[in-house]
Amino acid sequence: MNAIVTLSGVTKRYTRGKQTVEVLHGIDLEIAQGDFVALMGPSGSGKTTLLNLIGGLDQPSTGSVAVAGERIDTLSGSKLAKWRARHIGFVFQFYNLMPMLTAQRNVELPLLLTSLSAAQRKKNAEAALAVVGLADRSKHKPNELSGGQAQRVAIARALVADPTLLVCDEPTGDLDRNTADEILHLLQTLNREHGKTIVMVTHDPKAAEFASHQMHLDKGLLVGTTVAA
Ligand code: ADP
Ligand code: MG
Repeated sequence: MNAIVTLSGVTKRYTRGKQTVEVLHGIDLEIAQGDFVALMGPSGSGKTTLLNLIGGLDQPSTGSVAVAGERIDTLSGSKLAKWRARHIGFVFQFYNLMPMLTAQRNVELPLLLTSLSAAQRKKNAEAALAVVGLADRSKHKPNELSGGQAQRVAIARALVADPTLLVCDEPTGDLDRNTADEILHLLQTLNREHGKTIVMVTHDPKAAEFASHQMHLDKGLLVGTTVAA
C-alpha cells in the first residue's frame, strides 16, 4: 500500500495536576493515498485526539506519526506549525470561520502564510469557493450563510492551499440530515474526482457510509477496520 499516513505504537497521555490519563493505548494504522477514511467510535473514545495527532495539531506521548514520508512526532512547535500549514486542511464541527470576514477572505486566510500575491490569493480563494459550489457567496459574511454554506466555506478554506490531507472532525455534527448528506457528497467528490485523501471523524454511521474505509476506536484502541462494499 502507498501509505500517506503511518502511525506505529502511538500512545497519548494527558496530565492534569497529579493525574495522568492515557487516552490512546497503542495505535498502529496506515492510510493509503487517495483514501477516504471514517474514524468512528463512541464519545470519549479518543477520535479527536487521534485525528489531532494525524493532523499535527498535537504530538503523541510515545510512538511515531509519519505523514507523506515525514516524521511529525519529532518536529518542534514552530516547525510543526509550518508543516501543518503546508500539508493539512482542517474542517471542524462548528466551521470556525472569522465572523468579520467575507467568505472569500476566510478562504484566503491560509494563503497569507504563503508568498502568493494578493491578486493570486483572491483568485485561488474564488476557485476554491467554486469547487464547493459557492462562487456566488464570496462577499457574504458567516452570519449571512446557512450552516451548510458555512461548512462549505470552511471546506474551501481547508482546500485552498492544496493540502496533502483533509482532516475533518464531525463535519456534519451540527447539520440536519439533508444538509449533512450534501456536505458528505461534496467530500466524496473531493476524494473521488480531485484525489483528496480525507480522514473524517464521525459518530454517525450514515456519514461513515460515504467513506471508502471505516476505522473504529473504542476506549483508545482500534477495534476494527471495514472496507466499503
Ligand atoms: P472523542 O473525540 O472520541 O469524543 P476525545 O479524543 O476528545 O474523544 O477525548 C478522549 C478522552 O481524552 C476523553 O476522556 C477526554 O476527556 C480526554 N481528553 C481530551 N483532550 C484532553 C486534554 N487536553 N486534557 C485532558 N484530557 C483530555
Ligand atoms: Mg471528538
